[in-house]
Amino acid sequence: MADCLFCKIERGEIPAKKVHEDALCFAFEDIQPQAPTHVLVCPKEHVASLAEAQPGHRELLGHLQAVAAGIAKQRGLSAFRTVVNTGTEAGQSVFHLHVHLLGGRAMSWPPG
Ligand code: AMP
Ligand code: ZN
Repeated sequence: MADCLFCKIERGEIPAKKVHEDALCFAFEDIQPQAPTHVLVCPKEHVASLAEAQPGHRELLGHLQAVAAGIAKQRGLSAFRTVVNTGTEAGQSVFHLHVHLLGGRAMSWPPG
């Protein structure tokens, strides 16, 4: 997608601190971290949101979570949270599917 921020990061057109890349996804540090670890894990394929995901994306969806857990393990995080905001009202601001990996501080529940 020509105009998508995260597609531009994937293509290297906008700088980001990449922490992981494989055939299906890439991950980078969030520009406005909400915790000591705040990484975004994105599919290379442009999927606008979880609501747009198709049955053919099921393996990809699992992969994004597994990659997030792997980064958490790499960083020695014993507790962490993965979040997918879906839709503007739920806090989604970039319409390219991404899993937030948050860790390194105590977290409350429910989220705001
Ligand atoms: P969401 O609100 O769930 O769609 O999450 C979008 C996330 O992207 C927010 O946490 C932003 O801080 C982050 N973000 C926006 N622009 C950039 C950027 N250029 N590089 C890294 N993260 C970004
Ligand atoms: Zn995109």
